[in-house]
Amino acid sequence: MARPFRLAAGVQPLEYRVHVAVDPNPSARYSGRVSIRLALDQARRRLELHSADLRLSHARVHAAGITQPGAIMLHPERETAEIRVARPIPAGEVVLELDFAGKLRRDLRGLYAAAANGKHYAFTQLEAADARRFFPSFDEPALKARFQLSVTTDSSNHVLSNASVDFEEKLPKGQKIIHFQATPLLSTYLVALAVGPLVGSEPVYCGATPIRVWHIPGKERLTSFALEAARESLARLERWFDLSYPYGKLDLVAVPDFEAGAMENAGAVFFRETLLLLDPATASLQEQKRAAEVICHELAHMWYGNLVTMAWWDDLWLNEAFATWMAFEIVNEWKPQWKLWHDFEHHRAAAFHLDALESTHPIYTPVRTPSEATQNFDLITYEKGASVVRMIERYLGPKVFRRGVRAYIRRHAEGNTVATDLWRALEAASGQPITKVVRTWIEQPGFPLVTLCRVPGESAIELRQERFLARPSALQPKKGAKSKKQSARHRPATRWPIPWVARLGEGSHATRLERRLFTKTRERISLPGTTPLFVYGNADEGGFFRPLHDEAELTALAGSLAALQPVERMGLLEHQWALVRSGRAKIESFLQLVPAFSEETEPDVLFTLRAPLGFLDAQMAPAAGGEVPEHLRAWIVEGFGVPLERLGFAAQLNESDEKKMRRAALWALLGEIAEWEPLVRQASLLFDAYHTRRTGLDPNLANSVVALAARASTASRYAALLEARANAPTPRERERFQLALGEVRAPRLIDRTLRLLLTETIPTQDVVSLLARLLNNPAAREQTWTFVRRRWSALKRRMPPMLISRLVEALPALQSEAHRRSVAAFFQSHPVPTAARALRQTQERFRLNAEMRRRNAPALERWLGETRAAERAG
Ligand SMILES: [Zn+2]
Repeated sequence: MARPFRLAAGVQPLEYRVHVAVDPNPSARYSGRVSIRLALDQARRRLELHSADLRLSHARVHAAGITQPGAIMLHPERETAEIRVARPIPAGEVVLELDFAGKLRRDLRGLYAAAANGKHYAFTQLEAADARRFFPSFDEPALKARFQLSVTTDSSNHVLSNASVDFEEKLPKGQKIIHFQATPLLSTYLVALAVGPLVGSEPVYCGATPIRVWHIPGKERLTSFALEAARESLARLERWFDLSYPYGKLDLVAVPDFEAGAMENAGAVFFRETLLLLDPATASLQEQKRAAEVICHELAHMWYGNLVTMAWWDDLWLNEAFATWMAFEIVNEWKPQWKLWHDFEHHRAAAFHLDALESTHPIYTPVRTPSEATQNFDLITYEKGASVVRMIERYLGPKVFRRGVRAYIRRHAEGNTVATDLWRALEAASGQPITKVVRTWIEQPGFPLVTLCRVPGESAIELRQERFLARPSALQPKKGAKSKKQSARHRPATRWPIPWVARLGEGSHATRLERRLFTKTRERISLPGTTPLFVYGNADEGGFFRPLHDEAELTALAGSLAALQPVERMGLLEHQWALVRSGRAKIESFLQLVPAFSEETEPDVLFTLRAPLGFLDAQMAPAAGGEVPEHLRAWIVEGFGVPLERLGFAAQLNESDEKKMRRAALWALLGEIAEWEPLVRQASLLFDAYHTRRTGLDPNLANSVVALAARASTASRYAALLEARANAPTPRERERFQLALGEVRAPRLIDRTLRLLLTETIPTQDVVSLLARLLNNPAAREQTWTFVRRRWSALKRRMPPMLISRLVEALPALQSEAHRRSVAAFFQSHPVPTAARALRQTQERFRLNAEMRRRNAPALERWLGETRAAERAG
């Protein structure tokens, strides 16, 4: 098969020596020389390797004691350079040498410039396919080699890379050369370099491994949390894999401008500052949990991803699904009181919604080009992938699963794999034909809906499965449409082998579990023992499917909430809302469920209500019009106002984390969504104290308080937000005040925020998150969309490829059909290849939301009217 975007087979790089001279001043160029030792399978007259946006010169090839110059031909469309020589290069080991030069980039990829407090830095971000923008290389994950870097720079700069420093040379004119040791075998995307006046913490040790946190000057007091999280994670990961950390030292680097959350460069992991530099005294619990999870995720990659790497980007999930799953598992072991698997439910919920679209994709997705690889860094690869990993782990049992993964890692250490290698290892460990079960989940798009029906008069249920789609009519053949393409798309119902586990109610909160491997489309299951009081169709939310309960079962479940696990209560709400959205259940079935949660004590269960109640408030109630928006908000206050009053609006001394988080969840529902007057007033008071004296407020409430206060901004409060942002003592606080600039409602202030987006005040990494905040602000969305279109060329320079997709994903907040068409037309004339899939998903979401409003707005109005009338009568 032709592989137009792949390098020729038979040219294997063994070792790179890369020297670069870097001045982090953003206008400066950098230059270098790369010398690559290669093994050739046959004699060749040309060698092709990756290079993009670099100036190449002086190619030479050394082989069999002879050096010959090479002619350089660039192929920009393939992002490669071809080196041609006069006499054939013999098979065996040869050395290719090239000089190169580039400009420090501004788009957070390759080797790029970043600035903070007037000081200049250069950092790399090379995944997926941007090593070629840093130095000429064989930039495919299977072409692993050793790397030996050396860097010339000003003596005042600190230089970090994957390996430890071997030695340092002093040069005249205040310059130096840092020589790093050679790395173990690595894929190009894992190479790292940081240059600038960085400061490092004292090391903490995990066994013999020194761990340090690096940051820009002035953040010394913010490193202890990350050091502890890293040491605790690393020790547990070493035990889990039964294999030592492979890269000698471990540097964790807080990068002041960074596209992703973090990047697992071997031995030198890069992070956004918000995820690494925390002050535990002022960080919310949510922020601490998220930072620990991301740190652990990156460290899990040291084995899963770095030591054993997917052979090609189509198996990216092998890296990401495992690291995601593992982080929850390991951090949960470290801090069980955090109940991190509850947080996972929120991530999983987002993956469910994406995977219910027609424009979803399987976890395994063919990839031809670098931009297709970039698009795979999404919820399907990470969160759905992690859910499937979790399902397999539960199906095999944790011990067997771990044994299989350990064998897989040992066998393929420093190598590359495809999914089959993992299945084989798991089959050998378990003696079960696991491939049959997992392949469907990895290779088939979407997920099943499992309908449960009691069999009348018997202790039995009937299970049915079908693909769950956000729009159930989506895959039905249209009348009269019989084209070939269509009939191929409308294949008969897809099936999954489902490791199905149900929770059965036995009275006074006792329950038991019932397990099956459910593989047919329909199956009757007799339940041993007495007829259960209720059946919950996805115990512990262990499976990646939605259960559908009929009305009688729902009533039974609503009456037995305390007998369900908290994650099942989260699932129940989430699934029921999705069933309403897809037209499979009436909106009343969800609305009736909500009051049953007014006494809910698990904060994460309350947080689950945020998305559905937010949607009702932002889209449904305005569509119904009249007094519906007010009535909806009054209904939310009726449900949750009293519980919050009982807790108190502000934190008390010596409260448990549980209480604080519950209050935070109620503030989100009653404050941010319902804008309950007493809370809005309270937010204003708390804000005035908080922005001057940071300790006056429970950090868990800070996001809600600042957002609410910002909505009522006048020019003077806007000035206070800007000032608080500029002087924020931690990255999270800076982010909080910065995002609040997107909450303002006065058109003049919205305009000020929009104009800030084009200035260096807002770092490149934050442009899209602030735009998304503005798009979700009903007072700002119109102005924001106009701004995006008018200032596109200036904005685009400030939005790296992955973040443009995030912008596209935020656009359905514009709601109307006219906006949907405007979005489609705009991106047709301004195409963004890395956001092509996101754009299809966005179009689908616009339509789904419109359908939901059309179908259910009248029912919402009727239901709220009846509920209020009943209350007045009662
Ligand atoms: Zn990852």
